[in-house]
Amino acid sequence: MRDFQASPKPLRILAALIVLLTVFIASAQQPGADGVGDRLYPQLGNGGYDVEHYDISLRFTPEENHISARTVIEATATEDLRSFNLDLYGLTVERVNVNGAIASFERDDSEFIITPATSLAAGASFAVAVDYAGVPSPIADPGVSFVKLGWQAWEDAYFGAVSEPSGAMNWFPSNNHPSDKASYTMRITVPDGLTAAANGVLTEVTANQDATRTIIWEMSDPMASYLTIVAVGDFVEFRDDSGPVPIRNYFPAGLDADIVSGFDVTQEIMSWLIDLIGPYPFSEYGVVVLPGFPAALETQTLSAFGAEEPDPIVIVHELVHQWFGNSVSPARWQDIWLNEGFATFFMALYLEEIEDHQGMELLLSVAQADLPPPGDIEVSELFGPSVYFRGALTLNALRARVGDDTFFNILREYYQRHAHSVVTTEDLIAVAEDVSGRDLGEFFDAWLYREEMPDGP
Ligand SMILES: [Zn+2]
Repeated sequence: MRDFQASPKPLRILAALIVLLTVFIASAQQPGADGVGDRLYPQLGNGGYDVEHYDISLRFTPEENHISARTVIEATATEDLRSFNLDLYGLTVERVNVNGAIASFERDDSEFIITPATSLAAGASFAVAVDYAGVPSPIADPGVSFVKLGWQAWEDAYFGAVSEPSGAMNWFPSNNHPSDKASYTMRITVPDGLTAAANGVLTEVTANQDATRTIIWEMSDPMASYLTIVAVGDFVEFRDDSGPVPIRNYFPAGLDADIVSGFDVTQEIMSWLIDLIGPYPFSEYGVVVLPGFPAALETQTLSAFGAEEPDPIVIVHELVHQWFGNSVSPARWQDIWLNEGFATFFMALYLEEIEDHQGMELLLSVAQADLPPPGDIEVSELFGPSVYFRGALTLNALRARVGDDTFFNILREYYQRHAHSVVTTEDLIAVAEDVSGRDLGEFFDAWLYREEMPDGP
């Protein structure tokens, strides 16, 4: 036995230092935040790390609408982390590994709290593997009243996930906020006879021994979790390589020929948009028709449509989003007008330039309803008319203010400067002021934030 008092001095100093250092390290290892601070969706996303890649291996059993999956997330810690959160809604988690070691976890509603065996240091890369299973529960999101979100069964034996804004967390664990984009690999195993369409490029189809096949999709460009899609069913692929971007559409077998041919105009619209905005952001495009889906959604590289003959201006709307929304994405949900205002503006422009209708006049007549400002919305207004129409009118007023040439230079510069990234409204204003050489603060303030709608540009 040794008396501490009797220890030689240097040893005592060392011992004290070790104690102090341990306290210091322990206090520096904080849990990561359970949200990214989004005003409209405080619980979506998480703090303390940045995801680079999701690798989702998912086995699907249609009879029960059951999934059994492993998602591996590659990320980098942005602060010292004792624990961190993912977002996951429903399902049963079987096992969590961090860097190959079993990690402990807790569930609290859609917060999935993971404590690795060893704390993570700021700057360290790490891999989280989550094994989970169950029947996904569709999400009732306060921003979307007309459809439930996430993985679900659609009509006539079609399944899959459309997610904007929160639905992705009902089928894979993620940092579920557009401010943290990542690349994706999706490996979907389905019974023989079914197809799985998803984001990006189809890279491999493997026949398995147990009457299933595994279909692998790679999305190598950054993607927000709300733009993920998987659609499973008896789909037929239609390819169109006649234009500037390869197009592959997925239609339910036996779909009405008028619906199929309704999408023939896509290459023409693609060329028109490339001329106006700049190169298409991704390597392929297409649509998937999901019977029973009551809307259209710009899921990245593969927009989702319901089983109805498409209006060309809706094709325009979802395709414009590939530039504005998907490549240049909102860093916070309150700036959703940067998606919907842009897509709606181009719908009106298409009516005006291609179909020779008075598209902009149409917009103005809708807007006479005196729409509230689109820059400062509540969650219930996320997909409200203000975001679409007053958002589009803001762009049309900017066009009148600076002239056509400068206006389209602003759009092109805004896209180029922020491609594959995230933005706020301030980023658009900065580009508009740089390109036009004008002070536009007052202009944007009046259109986006003041209650009363301006009479003119
Ligand atoms: Zn839209």
